[in-house]
Amino acid sequence: MNANVSIVASRLGQVKPSASIAAKAKADALRAAGRVIIDFSVGEPDFPTPHHIVEAGKKALEQGHTRYTASAGTIPLRNAIIQKLQRENGLDYQLQEIVVGSGAKHIIFNAFTASLNAGDEVIIPAPYWVSYPEMAVINGGVPRIVNCPASTGFKLTPGALEAAITPRTRWLVLNTPGNPTGAVYTSDELRALGDVLLRHPQVWVMTDEIYEHFTYDETRHVSILSVSPALRSRTLVVNGVSKAYAMTGWRIGYGAGPVDLVKAITLLITQSTTCASGASQAAAAEALNGPQQCVRDAAMVFQQRRDRLVRQLRAIDGIECDTPPGAFYVFASVQGLIGRTTPAGAVLNTDQDVANYFIEQAGVVTVDGTSYGLPSYVRFAFATSDSEIDRGCAALSAAVALLHKN
Ligand code: PLP
Repeated sequence: MNANVSIVASRLGQVKPSASIAAKAKADALRAAGRVIIDFSVGEPDFPTPHHIVEAGKKALEQGHTRYTASAGTIPLRNAIIQKLQRENGLDYQLQEIVVGSGAKHIIFNAFTASLNAGDEVIIPAPYWVSYPEMAVINGGVPRIVNCPASTGFKLTPGALEAAITPRTRWLVLNTPGNPTGAVYTSDELRALGDVLLRHPQVWVMTDEIYEHFTYDETRHVSILSVSPALRSRTLVVNGVSKAYAMTGWRIGYGAGPVDLVKAITLLITQSTTCASGASQAAAAEALNGPQQCVRDAAMVFQQRRDRLVRQLRAIDGIECDTPPGAFYVFASVQGLIGRTTPAGAVLNTDQDVANYFIEQAGVVTVDGTSYGLPSYVRFAFATSDSEIDRGCAALSAAVALLHKN
């Protein structure tokens, strides 16, 4: 074989690295080089995993749960998931309709591998979580991006959905509460989307509900299946313990859906990871079965941080944002900064220039909106402490004051 031929498969040429993981890596590298860095890029709670959950993981190890488990997940964890879906979402599932993966991301990835034939289309409302389009592409799918501007609350409308559906559409990806905007769909909005989908039986729904416990003020999470139950035979509910229980590193997520799809995802797990970590599964079962006060406490803390961040960002000339009803992100417009000149004489032409300026001048790490499919914005994660929020906003304010308006 020609030694110059790359070992990397050609289809990976179209795949972008995760912008949020890249931003975190940049923050870590700058910190290691001695810079003071305030990191608003991280999409994970800064709390430790609650004690009773850690103890369940430790106990599982001590009791010898150190081996492979069933590929679809342990029976105790799948039962805990069934009870959770019933208790919190009013959804009824059987054991063979549940599959556990190494994170919700792993479930989404495997669901695409299991279902997409080359050229199948995946409708992804933008702004979107950075990984959806890339996971579709890796698996031979064609992302069909539908722009959902601030004027629609960054949400997909029935008209826009209808217009995006073609005979090749395989999936609609819904993410509520959403990353990166914190948008939360209401029952009426979901019902209206459901009505469109009922007219297009070839389209499946992937509903990613990983932020369901982080809704604020009067807002409440609703699953599309609770208002459009007729979609059950073509919906995959995706969720996990990473965000709600501060368990990002334990890597446990799950999918609930029709048996054929769940079996196909499980088949992929048997031939790839074999199963998710057994100790992590025991800890996740405790998270779902155990006391839920830790989740409510986290949500209250996030709500206060959200308000603190929004108040300070709004005080900066050139940054505008609404108060997000869910998740732990503020998606702020930096349109007002675009066109301004830095002290070094460079013009900020894009949101990526703005995000780079925030890092270089203020040591503040954010993620540019372009990476989420909507330019002129940047994303701030507020899963960080009050003092970091204050220091970060003060540094940003000082950096913005140095810009010249042309
Ligand atoms: N879905 C969304 C919308 C996310 O933002 C993330 C993580 O950032 C995930 C899924 C991944 O969750 P997990 O840690 O369970 O893989």
